[in-house]
Amino acid sequence: MRVVKTVREMQALSETLRKEKRIGFVPTMGYLHEGHLALVRKAREISDIVVVSIFVNPMQFGPAEDLSRYPRDFERDAQLLETEKTDIIFFPEAGDVYPEGYSTQVEVKGLEDYLCGKTRTGHFVGVATVVNKLFNIVKPHYAVFGQKDYQQLKIIEKMVRDLNMDLEVVPYPTIREAGGLAMSSRNTYLSPEEREKALLIYASMKKAEELFVRGERNASIIREEVRKVLSLKEGINIEYISISHADTLKELEEIPGKALLAIACRVGKTRLIDNTTLMEA
Ligand code: AMP
Repeated sequence: MRVVKTVREMQALSETLRKEKRIGFVPTMGYLHEGHLALVRKAREISDIVVVSIFVNPMQFGPAEDLSRYPRDFERDAQLLETEKTDIIFFPEAGDVYPEGYSTQVEVKGLEDYLCGKTRTGHFVGVATVVNKLFNIVKPHYAVFGQKDYQQLKIIEKMVRDLNMDLEVVPYPTIREAGGLAMSSRNTYLSPEEREKALLIYASMKKAEELFVRGERNASIIREEVRKVLSLKEGINIEYISISHADTLKELEEIPGKALLAIACRVGKTRLIDNTTLMEA
């Protein structure tokens, strides 16, 4: 496994590799967990060379967000990636990715108006910009993204289509802990009690799925039932409970054959997101 720390070296290496090998890429912000590793295994399965980037992208954090305290542990990440037979870790410095005078942004209009985009101003511009840059640097054939960050996945898919990027975005299902909590690097912020409360997020999605399977198609009713489950314990601050079109992310009143249920809430100071697809069998 090779650790590449500069944009120039990564770009030169990818240029050579791409001529004969299929490059699979997993962009991450590090502090890896089983969710990330599942993406790496998927990349391993479909490509010859697996590149994982570890970069806590300052552009996607708002001024009041957790950029400085975001968990980091490169040595641990490197060991985990070695075990998963990663070929290359791309681990650049922020000053190399955004040098002095940097001023270009990528905005995927429309999809960012919903869900997390409403409160996290500029977040998805930061995400689209850095992913675009990483694609130009790593030059992958495949890029694997988790459905855990559903809106991010949709925005990247659209960016790739709109800009005719020559690669395939490969979605991967959400990996959960035993009680159903979606794995996230931010889960480390949770105290044991908060972790217990956070299980209600999964329970509320299960409730919604159950109602949907029983034939409920009124989105307001399902949203209200989700809210009730999330309110079973004190201390969950709901940011949104959304039932939306799975492609456009537009809020729905009447659910057709398929919809996205997405939730964002704060448990203590920690912001958590999760989602599930409500779909007719
Ligand atoms: P992050 O390090 O949080 O930026 O995430 C890097 C990639 O891992 C993104 O494509 C995420 O959607 C994906 N990811 C994060 N958590 C999970 C999870 N629990 N299951 C599957 N993929 C995940």
